[in-house]
Amino acid sequence: MTPQSILKTQFGYDTFRTGQQEVIDAVLDHQPTLAIMPTGGGKSLCYQIPALIVPGVTLVVSPLISLMKDQVDALNENGIPATFINSSLSYQEINERFDQAATQQVKLLYVSPERLDSGYFARLAELPIDLVAIDEAHCISQWGHDFRPSYLNLATTIQQLPSNPTIIALTATATPRVAADIMQRLGIDKKVETGFSRPNLAFKVVKDQDEDRFLIDYLQANPDQSGIVYASTRKEVERLTKLLERKKVAVTMYHGGLDKAERRQNQEDFLYDRTPVMVATNAFGMGIDKSNVRFVIHAQVPGSLEAYYQEAGRAGRDGLPSEAILLFKLADVQIQHFLIEQSERDEASKQQEYEKLQAMSQYANTQECLQRYILAYFGEEGEDCGQCSNCLDDRESQDITIETQKVLSCVKRMDERFGKGFVAQVLAGSHNQRVKQFHFDTLSTFGLMKGRAQKSITELIDFLTASGYLAADGGQYPILKITALGVKVLTGKEQVFRKVAVKASKALPQND
Ligand code: ADP
Repeated sequence: MTPQSILKTQFGYDTFRTGQQEVIDAVLDHQPTLAIMPTGGGKSLCYQIPALIVPGVTLVVSPLISLMKDQVDALNENGIPATFINSSLSYQEINERFDQAATQQVKLLYVSPERLDSGYFARLAELPIDLVAIDEAHCISQWGHDFRPSYLNLATTIQQLPSNPTIIALTATATPRVAADIMQRLGIDKKVETGFSRPNLAFKVVKDQDEDRFLIDYLQANPDQSGIVYASTRKEVERLTKLLERKKVAVTMYHGGLDKAERRQNQEDFLYDRTPVMVATNAFGMGIDKSNVRFVIHAQVPGSLEAYYQEAGRAGRDGLPSEAILLFKLADVQIQHFLIEQSERDEASKQQEYEKLQAMSQYANTQECLQRYILAYFGEEGEDCGQCSNCLDDRESQDITIETQKVLSCVKRMDERFGKGFVAQVLAGSHNQRVKQFHFDTLSTFGLMKGRAQKSITELIDFLTASGYLAADGGQYPILKITALGVKVLTGKEQVFRKVAVKASKALPQND
């Protein structure tokens, strides 16, 4: 059987999606391969089809214990013999399943990475494993947003398998650094990347609005649409769920604090369209294959663009137009700061997290095309999407070159050693203790923006950072530095424009 005929007979599809054929061919040619495809891109078929062609067993390593059963059920329904081994099974059941794999009654065996570490290695080593598929492969990299220690030993374990299997690693989110890390750790030299762009997603950033109001209005206006609302804490999930229920929006919820049965029930209510809207923490969604999700709204900003793009990418897996909306306010960035601070990570890894958070907040402040901004972050060039809230922003652009020069010269006079809050205080002419202590009240740039609210100055700084005139380096308290582009502005070689709301009094009368 060829890959093409299996695609048709077993899965019922006529054509491969971008990248699938190339990955499958490489794997069948015994080349260890990393497949980077967006969520919904069709990664599963990249190992499921080879699994039906190679003579032996395919081992699928997946961190999603709760979803393994669903994936295996779906395969079985397509007439593909597959099973899983995880901690929910008894010793005897596990043994039976190993026997089924040994006698090739099953072609695909799903395991969690923890199972590979533990006492099962001897049994695994007896199996005729031809292929090992590592799902969510970014979990192996400490640079990734979802590093899992149990992934670290994978490479060694796989190398010790006597059947010498081919490795295929799959992920939806890998910056160039994470991709390189995955490849190095797993000894992979072939990478197939299909591009991250999701042309059917319209990205939106909503700032400075009453977020509860926005949510209620949006959900009431789209009553039959399926969607996910992400919040950053369990408490917030509970609050939003109650709020929306009071407003007669049909919602269910999911977070790690609910008991297992309730989580499963709520998840199924959502998956089978019994309840259209899911309010959840980021515990919900990895590996969820629901094709008709029309919107993903983040009520709070997540900790990184990797996480954001993965979560937002759960909208529109069927390719139909869908929305990814971020409700942004500065206070929510503080929550993420707090979460990083409280985490068990070491100092270096905390610094990395702060940097990722920084890139995430810049997303909310850029005026570039949002899709393009995300693609650039993942190291890819793109065109303006024409449908995100920035592409559709028809406010007028104003020349803010002079204001920018004021900010940049102040950063410079403060020796590029401080963060945005302090720079804003100096520009606003604040006489506080710290300003005096550093004698910044004697700088020529002191008070250059007197009369302007500090919040508006920090927003301007955020905008200049997001647009690349300033760089904010360092973790928890990023220090502002002037970039090469910023130097051009300072020396009058570059102008800066910013879209700003036209004040009501200045608005032109409408003709129609
Ligand atoms: P992901 O890359 O997120 O793991 P999946 O493998 O779950 O994506 O695939 C997403 C959806 O696309 C699934 O419903 C799958 O059946 C469907 N799909 C995958 N490949 C094809 C194809 N070649 N043609 C049509 N649909 C496909």
